[in-house]
Amino acid sequence: MPLSRKIWVYFMAFTVIVFVLLWVSQIFFLEHFYESMKVSDVAQASESIEKAYDELESRAFYDYIEETAVDNDLCIEILDRYGRPIYSCEVLGDCIIHGRGNSISTFWQRIKSSSEGVIYYKVKNPRSNYDMLVYGCEIGGDDYPDGYLLVNSALVPVGSTASIIKRQLKIITAILIVIAFVISLYVSKRIARPITKITESAQSLAKGDFSTEFRGEGYLEVKKLADTLNYAERELLKVDTMQRDLIANISHDLRTPLTMVKAYAELIRDLSGDKPEKRREHLEIIIDETDRLALLVNDVLDLSKLESGKEQLKVSEIDIKEELEEIIQRYKGVSEKRGYHIHLSSDESRMVKCDILKIEQVIYNLINNAINYTGEDRNVYVRQINLKDEVLIEIEDTGDGIEEDKINLIFDKYYRSENHKREVIGTGLGLSIVKAVLKLHNFDYGVRSTKGKGSVFWFKIKCEYDNVQNV
Ligand code: ADP
Repeated sequence: MPLSRKIWVYFMAFTVIVFVLLWVSQIFFLEHFYESMKVSDVAQASESIEKAYDELESRAFYDYIEETAVDNDLCIEILDRYGRPIYSCEVLGDCIIHGRGNSISTFWQRIKSSSEGVIYYKVKNPRSNYDMLVYGCEIGGDDYPDGYLLVNSALVPVGSTASIIKRQLKIITAILIVIAFVISLYVSKRIARPITKITESAQSLAKGDFSTEFRGEGYLEVKKLADTLNYAERELLKVDTMQRDLIANISHDLRTPLTMVKAYAELIRDLSGDKPEKRREHLEIIIDETDRLALLVNDVLDLSKLESGKEQLKVSEIDIKEELEEIIQRYKGVSEKRGYHIHLSSDESRMVKCDILKIEQVIYNLINNAINYTGEDRNVYVRQINLKDEVLIEIEDTGDGIEEDKINLIFDKYYRSENHKREVIGTGLGLSIVKAVLKLHNFDYGVRSTKGKGSVFWFKIKCEYDNVQNV
């Protein structure tokens, strides 16, 4: 059921309950309420008279009785200890203790024979057909009463009053139900409107319109929802833009070697085919370019595999010192030919546990970046620092460093600085692969960089592998 209708239904249900309660109390229980109210009035009046008897002198006491009788519509009779009337106050025209068929002595007898010295009756007045409340009690004296008090109150039939109220209630109910209907309809629409608007915006976002703005009107929860959705939209836009950039980058990086391959293949066909020297040179270029292509395709595949969550680590124990020496050795031939110097400084041998093929990939990616971005001196420093339960690996270059606002972005998928050079091979995926592998291992990692001085990328390999799930 839509929210607006639900709110409306609740509101109407509430109104109906209020009216049902009102009707039940006013019409069906009116008589009951009236009677219990009268009973309590009579009891209170009698109690106060008893008290006044003890406290006031006789003139004032009789004045008090008269006042009470008039105020509460009561007939009051005071009897002496022998049941003889000594003071009478008649307010009701037709009461049961005065008037015809005087029954004072009957009630006096009843008080006397009651164990508590108190009587309370509801009697039908045979003349007026009204119900009468009669209350009687002893007054004064310790062992033997000084006298007796009789109080009579009439219970006026409430039927006619009830029918007046009923008629009024019918009109009020009809008017209020119409008002409640209109108000609840308005309120429910008002509450549901901002949510409906947000739903419409979400639908247009789902269709790919990133300019949609989520407006949170009305109340706090909707404002928060709108803020969250606006944030999600910005994030989606970021990913969308990065994804587009990646495709643009990859297409560009694929096209360049392909163009080269094609150009050199044509050269061999048309010119250098029968000149062995030239042909070899051109073939070398073709091979290099195909390597570049393979690297690109592998990066994309690696990352998608790592991020699919299906990749399982094959953990083994290795000596990290030996491993680093081997890696640096492999670089020697190529990099030193191009004038790069990779300096390794290691602490003593230390056994660590990791998926070595993947950690090698991390080290290669970091060293490749360091070579690509290092300064004129073409130096790259690799350090192995043994810590308590971990080994810290640092790869430092002397390049331009990374701007502070970019540091948080470089590990993001697809992020690539805009001014990367053609000779810098890469897809913008290298550091994303580093991050994915290290996260999978649960290893800490990070980067320190000083603008103009260079950067240090670091990560810590654990000596004991505690991620049981992947062992
Ligand atoms: P790629 O190197 O292919 O562009 P990476 O994911 O390896 O992709 O790096 C992302 C970005 O991080 C690079 O484009 C570059 O701007 C920056 N970066 C990475 N390593 C370094 C470094 N050693 N010095 C300066 N900038 C770096």
